[in-house]
Amino acid sequence: MDQSDVGNDLANILLTEEQLQKRLSEMAGQIDADYEGKDLLLVGVLKGAIMVMADLARHLHSQVQMDWMAVSSYGSGTKSSGVVRILKDLDTDLTGRNVLIVEDIIDSGLTLSWLAQNLRSRGPESVEIAAMLRKPEAAKVDVEVKYVGYDIPNEFVVGYGLDYAEKYRNLPFVGTLAPHVYGG
Ligand code: 5GP
Ligand code: MG
Ligand code: MG
Repeated sequence: MDQSDVGNDLANILLTEEQLQKRLSEMAGQIDADYEGKDLLLVGVLKGAIMVMADLARHLHSQVQMDWMAVSSYGSGTKSSGVVRILKDLDTDLTGRNVLIVEDIIDSGLTLSWLAQNLRSRGPESVEIAAMLRKPEAAKVDVEVKYVGYDIPNEFVVGYGLDYAEKYRNLPFVGTLAPHVYGG
């Protein structure tokens, strides 16, 4: 799929497939070094993190395990509800594990801050966070993100796992939506 397939829905491409993959390979190098000789459990947050998780994991040289959680934070719109609910929990016992939460994007940081605290209460050895994208608002919340792909402007983006009303997740790049798509 390329830009022409989504017609006029996108205003512009913010990060190309090449930029995303290059940064992921750098992040993977850092993660490999930081977890050398340790076990590592990647926890992907559904559904947005599917692409980051799949690509980051393939760039890693370490042997890792992967598990998934689904939490609700946004509705079908573009604003955070501030309410976090577990829709699907992990299958893995976190006792003594080194956990790396893999996220698509941090906006308000509400979801991640809540999730990190929730996982820390389960007796893991460590809990860190990797996020492909970070918006400026995230700086206001007390959540430390160890690995960040790109800092982006405060705009609603889609692609590379990120949706608008469940569409555009399969785009291999990140772009902004044209205003008319919002119903404007
Ligand atoms: P936060 O709790 O940090 O505000 O955001 C939580 C979730 O909202 C993210 O994991 C992501 O799924 C969604 N989200 C935040 N910003 C955007 C955005 O710009 N585009 C899309 N498609 N989803 C976003
Ligand atoms: Mg997410
Ligand atoms: Mg969404």
